[in-house]
Amino acid sequence: MKTENDPVTIAAKPKVAFFDFACCEGCQLQVANIGETLLDVLGAIDVVEFREVMSEKYDKDYDVVIIEGSITDHHAEERIKKIRARAKVLIAYGACAATGGVNGMKNSFDLDEIRKSVYGDDYKLFDSTPTRPLHQVVKVDYTINGCPIYPPELIEVLKCALRGLPYTVPDNPVCAECKLNENVCMYERGVACLGPWTKAGCNSWCVNNGNICYGCRGEVKNPAKNANDVIGKYNLKPELIKNKFDMYNKCKEADTNGNRK
Ligand code: SF4
Ligand code: SF4
Ligand code: SF4
Repeated sequence: MKTENDPVTIAAKPKVAFFDFACCEGCQLQVANIGETLLDVLGAIDVVEFREVMSEKYDKDYDVVIIEGSITDHHAEERIKKIRARAKVLIAYGACAATGGVNGMKNSFDLDEIRKSVYGDDYKLFDSTPTRPLHQVVKVDYTINGCPIYPPELIEVLKCALRGLPYTVPDNPVCAECKLNENVCMYERGVACLGPWTKAGCNSWCVNNGNICYGCRGEVKNPAKNANDVIGKYNLKPELIKNKFDMYNKCKEADTNGNRK
């Protein structure tokens, strides 16, 4: 019987499928932004499911599944477990799948209150659980953070997945990339930015384009050495940073029934 620890052998022309759960499908659309490299990628794989462009029902096993979105009800939980059972490799694709993303804001409220505000008095007819990222429900082999994902990282992760190589999610702060890009720090402009606390890997995408970092790639394990200095220097309230960070990072560990611990 096959176990999780058995070595994974990927076919010469791997069957790759995209699936979406609770999300805006913006990360799937990012595939179209890969540009010419997309043609090379498409030449190396066989895309058997991709809801944005095709509705084919493929009934064999997958080499690689790329999953967008969070798990927010029992049906989704059953569905992701079935997909996982048919997939050699599973990639959590985008913030909704990797950390719960903006869907995690649901977890700030009482579940029944939320159901009532969305579904009205008949809310008990509609299934709903606290938001969970994929890794809280099934085994995840690769993670691509970001809302939306940063297209060059998708290529890197796909290359690793197709070759059976590990991919290490960057765990240094966005500030490191921001400095290399010679941006003027948002704090110097009197604007709070979550770069010191957020995992890099997006090439400081938002700041390069005149915006702040919103923390969409999740919390770095070791914040920038100057993170606390930033709080002191700019007289910030730690609650302000935490509240801003919650927008993408509110999901707490949940048990297999979707109950928060
Ligand atoms: S991570 Fe962001 S862009 Fe991607 S599906 Fe979720 S909400 Fe949409
Ligand atoms: S705080 Fe924001 S703007 Fe300043 S260096 Fe870090 S990422 Fe760049
Ligand atoms: S700069 Fe921050 S919010 Fe923007 S993509 Fe990078 S991690 Fe996400």
